[in-house]
Amino acid sequence: VLGTSDLRRSFTQGTATIEVLRGVDLSVQSGEIVALLGPSGSGKSTLLQAVGLLEGGFEGSIRIMGQEASKLDGDARTALRRDRLGFVYQFHHLLPDFSARENVVLPGLIAGATHAEAIARADSLLSALGLGERLDHKPSKLSGGEQQRVAVGRALANRPALVLADEPTGNLDEATADTVLAEFLRLVRGEGSAALVATHNERLAAKMDRVVRLHEGVLT
Ligand code: ATP
Ligand code: MG
Repeated sequence: VLGTSDLRRSFTQGTATIEVLRGVDLSVQSGEIVALLGPSGSGKSTLLQAVGLLEGGFEGSIRIMGQEASKLDGDARTALRRDRLGFVYQFHHLLPDFSARENVVLPGLIAGATHAEAIARADSLLSALGLGERLDHKPSKLSGGEQQRVAVGRALANRPALVLADEPTGNLDEATADTVLAEFLRLVRGEGSAALVATHNERLAAKMDRVVRLHEGVLT
């Protein structure tokens, strides 16, 4: 579902250039959950932004669902992101003025579901995440773990082939991180989606299907 070859990214600041990704070859198979481990500053977020088609400035190849990202125009990239990818971030980035349900309904609607389909999908995801009684709560009325569960539901709303998660439980205490991650993995597996999950937590990474490590700009 995802492949990169010789993916490179460097940043220039003043006269200094740092090479963050120095030739990353990564593949994620359909339905596979891969942990992306690496210390702070190793380039995990940079890699996720690249494969999420969120940022340009890369060299090398990124293929998503067999499509070469560099060959797609802006509209095609947006469509691929909207219809085939899901995103979870460390801080949930929920829309504060919308309820839990509305936050999960929106990506479904944007991806082309009817109103009724999007609502049914949101309610079923949020129920599966234990939030069936919290559908109408705004994010500020939810605990941190609950907010992150809503973010998980939102990422799956469009039935993505690939979920990209950047420290999805990094903002939670250990016990909550464990339960939210377990729910995330159960749901992603149940959906048959693939996932690439950046974390610096070895223990959580061990619960995934495979672990890759980013070290000095390449995967080991
Ligand atoms: P963390 O675990 O702390 O989230 P990370 O592995 O996600 O770290 P990145 O955020 O990908 O690391 O950053 C990798 C390196 O790239 C860092 O040295 C960072 O300073 C640099 N970097 C990232 N984005 C930019 C940018 N827009 N401009 C300049 N340098 C950047
Ligand atoms: Mg990061």
